[in-house]
Amino acid sequence: MSGPLLTVENLTKHYPLGAGFLKKPVSVVRAVEDVSFSVEAGETLCIVGESGCGKSTVARLLMRLVKPTGGRVLINGTDIAGLNNRELRAWRRRMQMVFQDPYSSLNPRLTAGQIITEPVENFERTSRKQRQALAADLLQKVGMSSEMMQRLPSGLSGGQRQRLGIARALSLNPSLIVLDEAVSALDVSVQAQILNLLVDLQQQMGIAFVFISHDLGVVEHIGHRVAVMYLGRIVELATCEALFAKPVHPYTEVLIAAAPVPDPTRVRLAVPMEGEVPSPINPPSGCAFHPRCPLAVECCRIEVPPLVPMADGRVVACHVRAPATGTPARPTAAGNDSLGPVVMSEPLSPDRGSRVHR
Ligand code: SF4
Repeated sequence: MSGPLLTVENLTKHYPLGAGFLKKPVSVVRAVEDVSFSVEAGETLCIVGESGCGKSTVARLLMRLVKPTGGRVLINGTDIAGLNNRELRAWRRRMQMVFQDPYSSLNPRLTAGQIITEPVENFERTSRKQRQALAADLLQKVGMSSEMMQRLPSGLSGGQRQRLGIARALSLNPSLIVLDEAVSALDVSVQAQILNLLVDLQQQMGIAFVFISHDLGVVEHIGHRVAVMYLGRIVELATCEALFAKPVHPYTEVLIAAAPVPDPTRVRLAVPMEGEVPSPINPPSGCAFHPRCPLAVECCRIEVPPLVPMADGRVVACHVRAPATGTPARPTAAGNDSLGPVVMSEPLSPDRGSRVHR
C-alpha cells in the first residue's frame, strides 16, 4: 500500500465550558488547533511539549477516544474521524495505545494471560489452547517468562506491568501504537529497557509509533521525527537529528536548552524563558508564544504564523525565523535577537531509534 500509514489533517479539538444550571457554553478550551502531520509504516514520530500543550489530546484523537471538532485522521486513506461505532470497531485492531500508568491501565482482577488475550477474544473465536499459546508468545516477545501468565498485575513490578501493557497492545498485530508518556512513570534503568524493547519490536514487526513525551532525552534516542507543540499547535516538525542539532523555533531552542544532560562534559547554552504557558481558554492573539518570546515583533501579536517549509525539509511556524515571505522580520525594541542558536558541545548520535544505554 502506498502513502503514509497515518495522515492527520487540520485536526482540531475544542471543549466548550458551560456555566449555570443549563450549562450554557460560555467559553471554549482550545486544546488542539489545526494540527497536521503524517507517519510512515515502521516510523516513530515523537510529539513533545510542556504539560497542557495538547499532546495527550492528540493521542486520544488519533485513537478516536474523543471526537475531533474538526479535521481528519486517515489510516491507510480511511478517515476514522467520520466512522460510526460499528465501522470503527474493525479499524481498532490496527491502532493500539499504551498508557502512562501501567497499573491503572490494567484490570487488577485479570491475570497477565487474560489481560493479553482479552482484546483477541473481542474480535475472534479462539480456543483456550490458542489463547494460552498467544499469551506465552507475546510474553516472551516483551521479555517476560510464560510462568508469569497466572500473575495478577499487583504481583508484577512497574517495568513488568508496562511490558504487559505493550504485550496487550501487540496482541491484535497493530500497524500503529500510540504511546502516551509510556515510560515517564518508570525508573531510568527500566525506561531504557522498555525503550530498547520498543526499538526491537519496531525492527522485527515494522510497527509505527506515535510517542508522546515531555522527556527530550527519551525522544532524542527513540524518535525518527519530532513534532514540537505549544498551546495546541505544532510549532516545529523536523527529523530528530536536525531538531536536536539546530532547533529553529525559539520555543524549541528553549525546550532543548532546558533539558537536563546526563553528562557533565556536555554543556547546553542556557536560554532564559519567562512566564507560564498561557491558558488555552484565552490564548494570546497571533503567535501564542509571543508573551514569552524574546524575538517577538509587531506582527507576532496580530497574525498566527503559518508552518513554513525550510530548506532541510523541516516545517517551522515563526514570523522571524521562518517568514512566509522569505524575508526575516526585524526585531522591534520590544524584542531582541539575543536568542542565538543553541550550541551543542558535541554532535548527537546519528543512529536514530537505536538501543539506549542508561
Ligand atoms: Fe512567535 Fe514571533 Fe517569537 Fe516567532 S518570533 S516564536 S512568531 S513570537
